[in-house]
Amino acid sequence: MTEADSVVMKLKQRLLADRKRIEEELRTLVESESSESAGESMGELSMYDNHPADVATETFEREKNEALIRNAETILKRINMALESMEKGTYGVCRECNEHISPERLEVLPYAVTCMTCQERSERKT
Ligand SMILES: [Zn+2]
Repeated sequence: MTEADSVVMKLKQRLLADRKRIEEELRTLVESESSESAGESMGELSMYDNHPADVATETFEREKNEALIRNAETILKRINMALESMEKGTYGVCRECNEHISPERLEVLPYAVTCMTCQERSERKT
């Protein structure tokens, strides 16, 4: 086994552990969201009884929850892509420019699918 292989093996273990953790987080988030929206349909009228600040907090909490869910889903997708590319032997190659992603970047972000340059470019776009 080459050194690069053992690095990938180590990162794979991290990705699998991360995936498990995020999947659990996501499940908790989705559960709390569905229990919140269950009471929402009858909340329309009673909303006027609430203190406006409470409503704002509720809305904020729900939006935060949704953002967390979206975020977790994105990371899960990336982790799966990274694991897939490990199977194919294309792990660590930028999907935008086909350059190798620096090992330092992969160490920090094992599920990175683009190199720093492409990442920065796509962040500027959005
Ligand atoms: Zn790139």
